[in-house]
Amino acid sequence: MNGEATILHADLDSFFAAVEQRDRPELLGKPVLVGGWVVLAASYEAKAHGVYTPMSVGAARRLCPDAVVVEPRMSAYTEASRDVYRVFDDTTPHVEGLSIDEAFLDVRCLRRTAAPREIAARLRADVRAKVGLPITVGIARTKFLAKVASGVAKPDGLLLVPPSKELAFLHPLPVERLWGVGAVTARRLHELGVTTVGEVAEFAENDLVSVLGRASGRHLYALARNHDPRPVRRRRHRGSIGAQSALGRRPKSLEDVSARLVGLVERVTRRMRVAGRSGRTVVLRLRFDDFSRATRSHTLLHPTANTGVILATATALLEGAVPLIEERGITLVGVAVANLADETGLQLALPFDRRDSDALDAALDEVWQRFGSRAVTRAVLIGKRRGVEMPLLPD
Ligand SMILES: [Mg+2]
Repeated sequence: MNGEATILHADLDSFFAAVEQRDRPELLGKPVLVGGWVVLAASYEAKAHGVYTPMSVGAARRLCPDAVVVEPRMSAYTEASRDVYRVFDDTTPHVEGLSIDEAFLDVRCLRRTAAPREIAARLRADVRAKVGLPITVGIARTKFLAKVASGVAKPDGLLLVPPSKELAFLHPLPVERLWGVGAVTARRLHELGVTTVGEVAEFAENDLVSVLGRASGRHLYALARNHDPRPVRRRRHRGSIGAQSALGRRPKSLEDVSARLVGLVERVTRRMRVAGRSGRTVVLRLRFDDFSRATRSHTLLHPTANTGVILATATALLEGAVPLIEERGITLVGVAVANLADETGLQLALPFDRRDSDALDAALDEVWQRFGSRAVTRAVLIGKRRGVEMPLLPD
């Protein structure tokens, strides 16, 4: 592990809501909800009324009757994200994108020119000046602790945890601050009388494993001691286009999961076609009840942005994962298309009948463009609630 605190976790504050407030100054200082039937983002003015994400817009309105509800504008958020990543990339070569609005930056290589705190302050000022958005930065020796620090410093804050104060900072915090602790794990810990990270740290690893299961027991044992050896790894954040959807913890049928997958594939391939990209590798991401994850991928012979081709591939991958899903229970499904190429030079992807299905895609794209994504939906999605679906990374 790094001897100095040089890992930054930079996280935009209430990202979608902040973009809306930036672009419509009359919304500044007002409670803003972004979403259709589910709140995807809430401004801090709305959060002050107890609104959180995801919750239904109806429930949020009951908590905060004055809230202004705004339809999401994904293209504006993708563009803002690209601008912010440009600031990240100008700050250090070591940027690891986590999602559309947060990234880890390792600034160890810059320590002769500037201290991490100065770099973070400049980064915040640059994002404010160039993109017009508030961003919070946490700084620590580990990725995990940097993320905890930014969570504590929000909104519009900067917090460095010095190496000598790590456990003093971490141990009084509620267990919910630990990465990967959701409602179920938190409840189990509360039943044991455990509410703070320090109390988690008093448990032997075996005891945590027997209460929480192997993956999350080991995970929490390590995090409560700030053990996190993962380095910041540069990821090509424009190398894939993807979307994911949380499924919640209640039991769900395979039909529900594959319906959700259809919606994700439609969204992803539509974004690919708008961006003029096609890709060869289809990646299916799954997360399970015990926090473990699995990734399945298949590389096609030729790049495509065709919904039918990518859906067929993703569905085959999902079918291959059925035993795993039945054994562990599924809480998240995601799909991404990687190995992206520009649309030019596309070849025929046999044996699918490209001509017909491309014509269908083009027709649907046109309807979507004119009337919005709810105008047309494939039969399998009718009667299904739309899940909370978030773009993973900027295209
Ligand atoms: Mg954020």
